[in-house]
Amino acid sequence: MSTRIRSIADLAIEGRRVFLRVDLNVPLEAGRVQDDSRIRAVLPTLKHAAERGARLLLASHAGRPKGRRVPELSLEPIGQRLAELSGFEVLLTDDCLSEATGKIVADLREGQLALLENLRFEAGEEADDEGFARELAKLADVYVNDAFGAAHRAHASVSALPRLFNERGVGLLMQSELDALERLRSDAPRPYVAVLGGAKVSDKIGVLEALLERVDALLIGGAMANTFLAAQGLPMGRSLLEPDRLPLARSLIQRASERDVKLLLPSDLVVAANPDASEGLIVRTHEVPDDAMALDIGPLSVEAFRQQILPAKAVFWNGPMGLFEKKPFASGSLGVARAGADCPGFTVVGGGDSVAAVNQAGLAERYDHVSTGGGASLEFLEGKVLPGLQAVST
Ligand code: ADP
Ligand code: MG
Repeated sequence: MSTRIRSIADLAIEGRRVFLRVDLNVPLEAGRVQDDSRIRAVLPTLKHAAERGARLLLASHAGRPKGRRVPELSLEPIGQRLAELSGFEVLLTDDCLSEATGKIVADLREGQLALLENLRFEAGEEADDEGFARELAKLADVYVNDAFGAAHRAHASVSALPRLFNERGVGLLMQSELDALERLRSDAPRPYVAVLGGAKVSDKIGVLEALLERVDALLIGGAMANTFLAAQGLPMGRSLLEPDRLPLARSLIQRASERDVKLLLPSDLVVAANPDASEGLIVRTHEVPDDAMALDIGPLSVEAFRQQILPAKAVFWNGPMGLFEKKPFASGSLGVARAGADCPGFTVVGGGDSVAAVNQAGLAERYDHVSTGGGASLEFLEGKVLPGLQAVST
């Protein structure tokens, strides 16, 4: 496999119809866009393409309509927001493939862009269907993928489709994702510190193993830490953990010590009777009561993590330190978010929930890179070949 990936800057897009795969899968509530950061993230590519006279056809998925038309998952509100933010007139098509849609795309004028209705209304999308891709390909001359968040999925618009174009590459957002994550994957400055948290060890085994080969320190919080603590024989009360992953956690701890990677687990925790409790109790890690659950890392742990993060030359953070959606259990994640923001090294945060924590704290600008892809960023760091990247390679 060749791995050369061209940037939109190197593609001949002048005056041509460009199929631009974007990730506009934003949270919607009652037909309103709740968080438009993914829409904002593609604006530089739109501007670049428009300035060069491209005729843009944008396409995205939203939610999981499973191949059927689900009116609540129409891209209508997303298209409206895109129009407000970009200043373009956004022509939303009724579907992906009808004659009317073809006509809208064919008639595109300057200052207009077309937005295909939700790709996942078509069963062919998630099935990576060749026939569906061939029909989509008729709509454009050039293919550009700027949807990093979807790059790890072998779906038609990111996998089968780009192979049908000679002129294909990635957009500016994708390029910035690849630049930042490639730096962490192949030549991260040292010391390199990774902070991992979130709900499960099992979601992140691959990246845990890959990071152990590269980092100087691995800091673990969140429910993921519960499994590691239990693996060391500590009673974790009613905490969320994965009993079937205790042996794995033990072998990761062993591997870290063999490789001289500093593996830091929380030394204190915030516990409560249940996730709806209005406040938590700070306890040392070996003092979790039988009837309580650990829902955040404690202040001593935050301080210890901060001491590792501040002098680091590279930091990668994925996964919150606790149930940060609830105020009594948000301090650990906010503390780590602040430490990452205060670190003068190269700092990257990825993962839907971790990024939400950073945004909630208003600290996104102080990171070198905030990844728009959760699963995709982990698979990339793991060293996996992402279908969406392989398919745009030339
Ligand atoms: P990301 O989206 O950043 O990759 P994950 O999806 O892996 O992160 O995990 C985030 C979820 O894990 C959040 O909903 C958070 O509330 C939950 N979580 C983290 N720590 C705990 C904990 N100690 N107990 C219960 N839930 C937790
Ligand atoms: Mg998540």
